[in-house]
Amino acid sequence: MMIGLIPLIQEDLHDPEYGHPENSIRIKIPLDFLLSSDLKAELKILEPEPVEASDIIYRIHNPHYLGQVKTVAESGGGFLDGDTFVTPGTYQAAWQTAEASVWAVREILSQRQKRIFLAGRPPGHHAEQNFGMGFCIINNTAVAAETAVVEFGLKRVAIIDWDVHHGNGTQHTFYERDDVLFVSLHRFPFYPGSGASAERGEGKGLNYTLNIPLPAGSDDEIYLGEFVKRVIPRLIEYRPEFIIITSGFDAHKEDPLGGMRATEEGFALMTRRLVSLANEYCEGRILSLFEGGYSPQGNTVSLYQHIKELQKN
Ligand SMILES: [Zn+2]
Repeated sequence: MMIGLIPLIQEDLHDPEYGHPENSIRIKIPLDFLLSSDLKAELKILEPEPVEASDIIYRIHNPHYLGQVKTVAESGGGFLDGDTFVTPGTYQAAWQTAEASVWAVREILSQRQKRIFLAGRPPGHHAEQNFGMGFCIINNTAVAAETAVVEFGLKRVAIIDWDVHHGNGTQHTFYERDDVLFVSLHRFPFYPGSGASAERGEGKGLNYTLNIPLPAGSDDEIYLGEFVKRVIPRLIEYRPEFIIITSGFDAHKEDPLGGMRATEEGFALMTRRLVSLANEYCEGRILSLFEGGYSPQGNTVSLYQHIKELQKN
């Protein structure tokens, strides 16, 4: 079936000057391949309209923090931490990607699209309420989930984060809430340090955070095993009204940073499981947000398989 694709490569706005793994090439090459492949016929390129999204974004991030990012950008750029760069266009790029996340949720939950992949940069899942870190400025996943809750009144939004790093920012945003279920598979111990299985949520949110820490070198068999044993049963129990995938491909064996051994076949099989679950519980509705993944080749084969599965009914 036809699915939506939002290509927000941001190469003119948010590229480091040299040698940084979070660059536009890592998604430009995979998108170029995808758009010259057999999957193109069932891809609808979407161009988000400018939307008013500040109400939602400021529910996730402190305006003072985003003001600081803007100041750094306007003064020519710099770093928020050892590896989170800001260029003169970064504030605009981050804001555009976050707005596109809001727009994509509105498209899906207003029944105009069923599934969308947003190829946006900068990534987001490490971004916390009051600071950016780990290449991330605005938490696009959290912004998307909050849009579904606040604007559409959803009571059960499920986030599946299979980026190789733990999505600390997303976890903290929803840690005491039961209207957003956060499930993360990640290498552990590893950057950013959080994501132990004992972190399960608090108060009303207890058991609405599910961390699945995995050892270095984990392969498809380990990922799929956890998916079948723990992720899918928890999702069935939750009965999500909407599924958001934080889709980093840095667990792929080609990735220079991840240290895992997953392959594109693993991403295909995990996607297939989520499509099937979405069909059963939420009219097939899935938003997938590009996150990490630093091997252009690994991202190319993984994205191809991910999209191929999302296109299946
Ligand atoms: Zn990552």
